Amino acid sequence: MTQVDTDAARDAIPQRRVLVTEIPGPRSKELASRRARAVAAGVSSTIHVYVDGASGAIVRDVDGNCMIDLGSGIAVTGVGHAVPAVVQAVSEQVARFTHTCFMVAPYEGYVAVCEELADLCPGDHEKRSALFNSGAEAVENAVKIARHATGRQAVAVFDHAYHGRTNLTMALTAKSFPYKDRFGPFAPEVYRAPVSYPLRDPEGMTGEQAATRAIEQLSVQVGAGNLACVLIEPIQGEGGFIVPAPGFLPALAAWCAEKGIVFIADEIQSGFARTGAWFASEHEGVVPDLVTTAKGIAGGMPLAAVTGRAEVMDSVHPGGLGGTYGGNPVACASALATIRTMRELDLPAAARRIEANARPRLESMAKRHAAVADVRGRGAMLAIELADPDGLRPDADAAQAVARACHANGVIVLTCGTWGNVIRLLPPLVIGDDLLEEGLDVLERALDEVLP
Ligand SMILES: *Cc1c(COP(=O)(O)O)cnc(C)c1O
Repeated sequence: MTQVDTDAARDAIPQRRVLVTEIPGPRSKELASRRARAVAAGVSSTIHVYVDGASGAIVRDVDGNCMIDLGSGIAVTGVGHAVPAVVQAVSEQVARFTHTCFMVAPYEGYVAVCEELADLCPGDHEKRSALFNSGAEAVENAVKIARHATGRQAVAVFDHAYHGRTNLTMALTAKSFPYKDRFGPFAPEVYRAPVSYPLRDPEGMTGEQAATRAIEQLSVQVGAGNLACVLIEPIQGEGGFIVPAPGFLPALAAWCAEKGIVFIADEIQSGFARTGAWFASEHEGVVPDLVTTAKGIAGGMPLAAVTGRAEVMDSVHPGGLGGTYGGNPVACASALATIRTMRELDLPAAARRIEANARPRLESMAKRHAAVADVRGRGAMLAIELADPDGLRPDADAAQAVARACHANGVIVLTCGTWGNVIRLLPPLVIGDDLLEEGLDVLERALDEVLP
């Protein structure tokens, strides 16, 4: 065993939920009051405990409470917290060198991550990648590349979309509050089309019909010949884990191919084994021209990428893409170890197993509570939508109350949705069956407490 292995083994936190104080405990409360005097109010947190350590699917707070993590820091630690192979790769890379800037003096890790992305992203065409720091930065660059490659300016996005918080990506994101409210003006040439949202679309609307609805609107209001790209999350994340009806994504992609529009899949939340495939586009055999990735790619280190068709990517002149930290060597080492671990443990299969265990539980909760209007998602990206059973009026208060009850009982769950009425589950893919079961028990009791 190396030194790092020994440390990792010693520090590993048992995979058990243990509450030793109320949530939040006294030390977390102390930190909260320091925070209020030092941290900008605009940055908020879902749970009010302060983290001391994390391992696998358990997060331990500064009071010693061990919580079951069903959020993975928003789909980032899919590979698990503090996985020894990742800890070791990062530690070794930190000791070798932390930064040269790939644009100044390149290194192998960056190239190796791009090779992995070419291998993993859908399609067997020739691919190229460029690396960045955050999801928003990847999306910005994907749009830059599509504009450059096509010589067109317009960008099509969808209702309920989330693509980030920078100026361009705020424009691409659908929801005003809290993301865009009073932060304008926003970037121009962004057009929004209706998505396929089976729960709320007219009864019986097929994916193809929903695609035709979007395509007709874009054709009339923008004109296909003006569109540089169509940008879509194959399963919408922040917007509510909305899975489009079958046929929607393939029809959109086919229209893009016919009209010379770059089809960009934003797989930042849905990618890297999360949905039971390496990428959610694969469930319908869709091969995007460009794919944006981030979140799950590097086990918690900041890394993002744009990967796509060589002729589109390489249309940009040398020097046209980059950034000081993009593809940082420590983040690349972490990504390589994360991807290796995901392959070794077959985490796409683990995500399918999580769905097989969790979906029947969620469906039985929906049977018992009429306010659970929908159970949806794929793999380990699952959600329930809470709404008034008659008019489907979204019930954000219930979702918030359920989430708070879970937190108080040591389970981290997140909400999402345009109306804040969706409870989403994004467990680390390495979570044990028993721990997942226990997390779902807590969710079930929270629903029983809050809902009629
Ligand atoms: C989180 C997210 C982003 C933005 O990523 P950041 O790293 O927070 O900038 C973009 N698109 C999708 C689909 C996301 O889930």
